[in-house]
Amino acid sequence: FLQLRDVVKHYGTYVALKGVSLSVEKGQAVALIGPSGSGKSTLLRCINTLETISSGTIKVGDEEIGAETTASGRRQHSAKVLARQREDIGMVFQSFNLFPHMTALENVTSGPRLVRGHPASAAHKKGMELLHRVGLGDKAGSFPRQLSGGQQQRVAIARALAMEPKIMLFDEPTSALDPETVQEVLNVIREVRDTGMTMLIATHEMDFARHVSDRAIFMEAGHIVEQGVSSKVLFSPETERCRRFLAGLT
Ligand code: ATP
Ligand code: MG
Repeated sequence: FLQLRDVVKHYGTYVALKGVSLSVEKGQAVALIGPSGSGKSTLLRCINTLETISSGTIKVGDEEIGAETTASGRRQHSAKVLARQREDIGMVFQSFNLFPHMTALENVTSGPRLVRGHPASAAHKKGMELLHRVGLGDKAGSFPRQLSGGQQQRVAIARALAMEPKIMLFDEPTSALDPETVQEVLNVIREVRDTGMTMLIATHEMDFARHVSDRAIFMEAGHIVEQGVSSKVLFSPETERCRRFLAGLT
């Protein structure tokens, strides 16, 4: 469902992704782990079209990201195509990224209204449903600054879901949170997974990764070092490198 082939990403002369190939089946939850600087965020940002890749291909469903085949059969990249493709890919960042001047409900409904063109009443109804789903039905009128980090992150998840994405990407969704609020966000992510959502989660929460993901991918220095069934990769990895990482030796 999500397929990357030989994806290379340069930042100037620095190579952040050195030929990454992976695939995620529909409905699968995949944990992306690895030391700081290994390229996890870069990978997610490339899938989300926030970065353009230097070479290789990324496909979501049948569609190649960043590419549109013209009438003459030529592939072209256009800002318009990227923007449309991004609408189908939900992303939740470490730093919540809510609109500060909008209430929780407005944050959730703005995408469906402005981007998808849904009528206000339908967006409102759906938005309230989603806020209830993430346990924030009573916070619809609150502004981000009036919410805790965990609550803001749950609004961010509701906002991403409101766009009815084909896939959800999470970039260390709990690493900016107080330890007490980590669990409430992880529980929401687990519930999203249980709805059958396809997802890719960069995380340092190994327990969570073990419990919630079907597969795990271990990256280092822009490469995939090891990937496979979570129970295997996260409990008894094949590579010494991954073993050391999991043992906290990095
Ligand atoms: P962390 O666990 O700390 O979030 P990460 O695995 O997400 O790390 P990335 O943020 O993807 O790592 O970074 C991979 C490498 O690319 C790092 O060495 C980083 O310095 C570099 N990098 C990331 N973004 C840029 C950028 N915009 N310009 C130049 N270099 C960048
Ligand atoms: Mg990162």
